[in-house]
Amino acid sequence: MPKVLWLPGAERDPIPGLSTAPFENEANPAWKLLIHTTEGPTYAAARSSYVRNQFAPQVTVGPNPAKAKTVKAWQHYPLNSRATTLADKPGGIRPNRDHVIQVEIVGFADLEQAARHGRWLGVDQWPEWYKAGVAKILRELMDACGIPRRCTVRWVRYPQSYGTNASQRLSTKAFDDYAGILGHQHAPENSHGDPGDISAFVRDYLLGEEDDDVAAKADDILKKLTELDTKLAAARRALGERHNLRRREYEALLFNVQQNEDHLKEVRKKLAELEAKVNALGCVKGGPE
Ligand SMILES: [Zn+2]
Repeated sequence: MPKVLWLPGAERDPIPGLSTAPFENEANPAWKLLIHTTEGPTYAAARSSYVRNQFAPQVTVGPNPAKAKTVKAWQHYPLNSRATTLADKPGGIRPNRDHVIQVEIVGFADLEQAARHGRWLGVDQWPEWYKAGVAKILRELMDACGIPRRCTVRWVRYPQSYGTNASQRLSTKAFDDYAGILGHQHAPENSHGDPGDISAFVRDYLLGEEDDDVAAKADDILKKLTELDTKLAAARRALGERHNLRRREYEALLFNVQQNEDHLKEVRKKLAELEAKVNALGCVKGGPE
């Protein structure tokens, strides 16, 4: 089950008329991140399509209308509810319910449409800031839902990717078993070919370690090093104290020995004196018997 139901950074925007429903009940579900493209130029266009056609993903990501060159996320369902962006006929597999977290990315798999609406929104032209911003949200989603950062499907350009029998589409069994990142073009019982070929984006932005991760790891290592340093200093101090203690003990012992030697000298001297006296008495040897 997802760790959070609503992404902290996303604006909650449930679509009127749509209701939540649980995922399929499976013992060992394979969690997936399924990517769509909205085939429109803005979030507003996508949202009016959701309202009109009565479907929505869990999350839409797109250009932030309030701030240029930034990415924003809107969430339409809690993460423990299935979304409704896949064709999902009763009978066979129910693709929406197969532990699929669906994301609509504002953009175009259809590059001819992109040329009309804004070339940069074509999946082959997304600028750096857009890819990085979208990827940040997708990684948060994967972390929240325990979706593994893996991808073994084949991505095909639109329109070659279109059709229920398109070569890259998975069988129902393969889809059910698949855990990781895939697209609408891989869902069985579906015909749509979005999001086209986003293999480079997936490889470069979703599978590898992101800069944030590397920075976090570096911070972690630095913290551990500092801790070790502190421990080392404490150990050195303890050793030094023990060393000092030993030296003081040794000096005390030495002092004792010296005192004993002095005492011994005294005793020897007295003994010698006594001996001298005894010898002096030698003249009266053979005294009274
Ligand atoms: Zn789609």
